[in-house]
Amino acid sequence: MDHFLYRDGALFAEDVAVADIAAAVGTPFYVYSTATLLRHFRLFDEALEGMDHLVCYAMKANSNQAVLRTLAQAGAGMDVVSGGEYRRARAAGVPGERIVFSGVGKTREEIRTALEGGIRQFNVESEPEMAVLDATARALGKVAPVTIRVNPDVDAKTHAKIATGKSENKFGIPIARAREVYRMAAAMPGLEVVGIDVHIGSQLTDLEPYAVAYRKVAELTGVLRADGHEIRRLDLGGGLGIPYERSNADPPLPSDYGAMVKRTLGHLDCEIEIEPGRLIAGNAGLMVSEVIYVKSGEGRDFLILDGAMNDLIRPAMYDAWHDIIPVAEPAAGVERAPIDVVGPVCESGDTFARQRMMPPLAAGDLVAFRSAGAYGAVMASEYNSRPLIPEVLVHGDQFAVIRRRPSFDEMINRDTIPEWL
Ligand SMILES: *Cc1c(COP(=O)(O)O)cnc(C)c1O
Repeated sequence: MDHFLYRDGALFAEDVAVADIAAAVGTPFYVYSTATLLRHFRLFDEALEGMDHLVCYAMKANSNQAVLRTLAQAGAGMDVVSGGEYRRARAAGVPGERIVFSGVGKTREEIRTALEGGIRQFNVESEPEMAVLDATARALGKVAPVTIRVNPDVDAKTHAKIATGKSENKFGIPIARAREVYRMAAAMPGLEVVGIDVHIGSQLTDLEPYAVAYRKVAELTGVLRADGHEIRRLDLGGGLGIPYERSNADPPLPSDYGAMVKRTLGHLDCEIEIEPGRLIAGNAGLMVSEVIYVKSGEGRDFLILDGAMNDLIRPAMYDAWHDIIPVAEPAAGVERAPIDVVGPVCESGDTFARQRMMPPLAAGDLVAFRSAGAYGAVMASEYNSRPLIPEVLVHGDQFAVIRRRPSFDEMINRDTIPEWL
């Protein structure tokens, strides 16, 4: 459920008309709903009630400072995957003890930043990383809390670009080698082993792959404890999917997920961390765009928008579906016709939807892409020299620009011309 609904024929974000935001900031833009962000965070928090737990929002999904502050104030921790994200989390007011650091390629510099600034744990993904972490911690006179990310070799049954839990993926250490790697970690004085980490992929629409992976983690917990390791924390990753296509999807709810976690891992008396990103931010955001032209082609019509693949890359990158709805509610029973919805960027990949059934639209009309709050603004680029589009946060009847649109000069002046020119 989200807070983007029609009222008297106009699309609202909470209590603000989307058309009013468009008039104030211009199109295209992203708009996020505070109530939806908080609702999704709380669904996870409540799903794990009764277990010692921390919901660490995977901030790569949407890392705007205002989004982070909103969630942090509600009690969220953060899952970061770079030094930049670590700094963003800290700048938004998240204390180090609520930040977990994931990622296969943490540099020495990033590790040092997190150790000096304070960190809940590093989710270590390889033996070379383990050695660097140990050395860096000792050089700073610190001990780094670590979990080791195991790769359970489970097929998450999701898009290949976002599956991470198969043995051919670059993530984690093979679960079969876990005992050996934990033994090495325990022998390193700069590390304190606190638990196990697993993350099998993103946009999962079935709980079964999770259950398979978590049963393997439960078994491994027993084995490692018998080897003398103190396994007190399990980081279960993120990845729960959202219904991008409202009309034909029914992914599991956070409450179903929580019940499955309790079933598979509840008996171990571990502190549980989860790292949802998409499910918290995805349906909390729209991308709003204006129709520039309606073009009739040969046997095919095109709706040409001012938003493009550089603003929202998911359709081009993952063949993703986004519901696209007019900001002015179409009259009941209006006839829909198939049309290709495209942006102005000079490649055919800049296509949001092919032969989508849409009500009649004309130049100047506004449309909204639903479920654009996660992996939208954060993956945007300036391809075709299109400045990054602004982000707006709604809270009840208020809205604020939380990242403004840069001017053309700002964009151009980041380049420098060498003196020989
Ligand atoms: C991307 C990622 C997540 C979040 O995945 P979502 O599908 O957005 O929930 C969580 N943990 C790790 C380690 C990730 O890389």
